[in-house]
Amino acid sequence: MSSCSRCGGSPFFTRRYSGEVLCERCFKESIVEKTRRTVAKHRMIARGDRVGVAVSGGKDSLALLKILYDLREWHGADLVAISVDEGVAGYRDEAIAHARSVASDLGVEHRVVSYGELFGFTLDAALASRRDRETSSCGFCGVFRRRAIDEAAAEAKVSVVATGHNLDDYVQTFVMNLLHGDVGRLGWLDPDHEGGRFPMRRVKPFMEIYEEEIALFAYKSGIPFQSVSCPYMHEGLRSEVRDYLNEMEAGHPGMKNVLFNSALDVVSHYEGGSGRRSVPCTRCGKPSSAGLCGVCRMKDELGRQVNYTT
Ligand code: SF4
Ligand code: ZN
Repeated sequence: MSSCSRCGGSPFFTRRYSGEVLCERCFKESIVEKTRRTVAKHRMIARGDRVGVAVSGGKDSLALLKILYDLREWHGADLVAISVDEGVAGYRDEAIAHARSVASDLGVEHRVVSYGELFGFTLDAALASRRDRETSSCGFCGVFRRRAIDEAAAEAKVSVVATGHNLDDYVQTFVMNLLHGDVGRLGWLDPDHEGGRFPMRRVKPFMEIYEEEIALFAYKSGIPFQSVSCPYMHEGLRSEVRDYLNEMEAGHPGMKNVLFNSALDVVSHYEGGSGRRSVPCTRCGKPSSAGLCGVCRMKDELGRQVNYTT
């Protein structure tokens, strides 16, 4: 491997899609710089904003908290970390402990909300008893998690919510929407018009960075890694799409970048999709695509099926 293409130092990482060779310091700086550029390009954060960083306790969200903290003088916003405890035994406790310790090391306020206190059930209890198997566990969980983040963000009076979604997450969601026939949702992926269906803006400062690079950044920055993964994460289409895209990238370096740029192009043309319109839920008043919102619908469904306890 040749030397770092930026400073001539010892090689540490090669970006296969660009051929760029970087030493460890330049690699880490490049991740911070890429994040800064994404935030600036899509005007994600403005001076005076209060940013709620959704921190699951995994590598992406903790790396995001750290980078937004390091960039605080540049963006001029206030940060608060928000974690959601879904109620998954043996999994979330460790993640929340990591989140608490990183936030406290940085001196960032940290808030935790749980499904138990907000919805009256744990994810374990709900998934164990529900009969509707059409929605994947993550699909089901995601509806409640988005609401939980909204509630915590409103409580913390934030003006924008930043999530750790990376380029891999973005292209997976794009492909899944196509595979599900959810073309109306493509508009939701437009980084310049995100948040129409949420009470406050949502931004993804890592959306232009490969997952493997964030993982490496987190590892080299001493960010704690979670030892277990969510027991429900391998169910559903997303893991198959993830494996397929990783295989394609291995054979054709840069393919995920190309797909990402194509996706951005497509979603920017997707004006007027049903994903953009939102009306108040007829029961809870939160944004919904029509009638009852996803949370109220799923709660009704659960209520018919189970006697859940927290
Ligand atoms: Fe919820 Fe899926 Fe995340 Fe587990 S992996 S916490 S089920 S979204
Ligand atoms: Zn509702």
